[in-house]
Amino acid sequence: MAVLFVDLDGFKPINDSFGHAVGDVVIRKAASRLRDEARDCDTVARVGGDEFLILLNDVADDEACIAVARRVLASLSQPFEAAGRRIEISCSIGIVVHPGPGERHKIVANADAAMYAAKRAGGSCYALFEPHMVSDVSEQLELQNELRHALERGQLSLHYQPKIDGRRGQISGVEALLRWNHPRHGLVSPLVFIPLAERIGLIGKLGQWVIDEACRQIAEWGRDGLRMRVSVNLSPHQLRDKGLVDRIDQTLQEHGLDATQLLCEITETVAMEDIKAVQRTFEGLGAIGVFLSIDDFGTGYSSLRYLSQLPAQQLKIDRSFVSDLEHSANARAVVAAVVGLAHALGLRVVAEGVETVLQRDILLAMDCDELQGFLFARPLPPAALLAWAHGAKPEGAADFTPSVVGALSPL
Ligand code: C2E
Ligand code: MG
Ligand code: MG
Repeated sequence: MAVLFVDLDGFKPINDSFGHAVGDVVIRKAASRLRDEARDCDTVARVGGDEFLILLNDVADDEACIAVARRVLASLSQPFEAAGRRIEISCSIGIVVHPGPGERHKIVANADAAMYAAKRAGGSCYALFEPHMVSDVSEQLELQNELRHALERGQLSLHYQPKIDGRRGQISGVEALLRWNHPRHGLVSPLVFIPLAERIGLIGKLGQWVIDEACRQIAEWGRDGLRMRVSVNLSPHQLRDKGLVDRIDQTLQEHGLDATQLLCEITETVAMEDIKAVQRTFEGLGAIGVFLSIDDFGTGYSSLRYLSQLPAQQLKIDRSFVSDLEHSANARAVVAAVVGLAHALGLRVVAEGVETVLQRDILLAMDCDELQGFLFARPLPPAALLAWAHGAKPEGAADFTPSVVGALSPL
C-alpha cells in the first residue's frame, strides 16, 4: 500500500483575494478530480484546509505510485472555474510506500515530511519519502520557533544598500534589507526566512518592524546630518492589509519624517497578482506622499496595461537581465526597451545587481537613472554608511565620494 499526501500550492492567496466562497469551490473541485484519479479500491480523504490523503491499496511498486502522483499533478494544474474566474493552482505530493523506508505507524507523518520536501523544491512536484526528510522537517520547525522569538531577542536588523545616481555619481538613496542574525546559523538570508514568516503568519509583525526601524534610522541619520531616502520591501500580505497606509502614516509622524523620505518596493509578480488590492494600497500610499517602486521587473507577466495604471515612481530591472547584459544581445534589447518604456511612463529606472564596470557602462549608455549592486557597495550596517558619508569608505565599496549630506535628490 502507499499513502500520497497532497497539499495544494497557491491556495491561500485565492482565499485571501477572492474570498472563502471561491476557495470552497476550488477545494470541492480539487477533491473530485482526486477521486477521478483514484480507483474504487483506493481512499481519498480531506485532512485539513487544502490537504488531502490518498490511500492506495495493492500497488505494485514505487513506479505505480509515481504514476498516480503524476496524474494528480497534471489534473490539478488544469485551470479551475469558480465564480466566473479562471483559477490556476498546483500541488505538492509526498509519497510513502509500505513496506519501505520509515515505520508503519508513522506513515502519514512521513508522507507529510515528503510533501514538505516537494514544497521546498519549489512545489508542483512529488517526492518519495526518505528518512532524512524527518529531520529536515524538525529543523524547519525549530527555525520557525526561533523566528517567532527573533524580534524580541533583538536578532533582526536592517542593512542598507546604496542606489547610485548614474549621472551625478552620488548615492540617491538606500534599500533596507532585512537580516536575521541567528545564534547558530549566523546571518540567515531573507529569501529563507521571509517565506517562513509568511507561512506562520508572522510577516505582518515583521513587516511593521521593518517600517518602524527604517523610519527610526532615517530620523537618526537626519540628526547626524545625513539626509537619505530609504526604501523598504513590502510583502504581499502587507499589501492586502487595509490598515497598512494608516500605520505607515502614523510611523512617519511618530518619527517626524517627511513622507517623501520613504519609498516602498513591491515585486512585480505581487503587484500584478492582485491588482485591485495593490492599486488601493498604492493610491493610499501615494495620497500620503510615499513613493512607490516596482521591484524585480521582468520576472512576472510584465503587463503593460497594469504597469501604466500603477501610480509608481520607480521601476527596478531584475538582476537576471543585468547579469546577461555583457553576453546577450537579447538582454541588451530588453533592458534598452524597458528603460525607454519606463521613461515614457514617467518612471525612474534602477538596475539591480550591477557587478561589473562593463555592466555599469552599458546601463549608463542606455540612460538608466540609478544603479545598485555589489560593484558600488554591498548592503551595509547603518554605521558603515554614516562613516562613508563622513569620508571613511567601506571595504570593497566603489571609489567615489558619496555626497549624501544635504537635500534629497528628486525622484
Ligand atoms: P530585492 O528586493 O530584489 O533585493 C535585492 C537583493 O539582491 C538583496 O538580497 C541584495 O543583497 C542582492 N544584491 C544586491 N546587489 C547585488 C549584486 O550585485 N549581485 C547579486 N548577486 N546580488 C545583489 P537579499 O538582501 O538577500 O534580499 C533578497 C530578497 O528578500 C529581496 O530582494 C527582497 O525581495 C526580500 N527582502 C529583503 N528584505 C525584506 C523585507 O524587509 N521585507 C520583505 N517583505 N522582503 C524583504
Ligand atoms: Mg527590493
Ligand atoms: Mg529586486
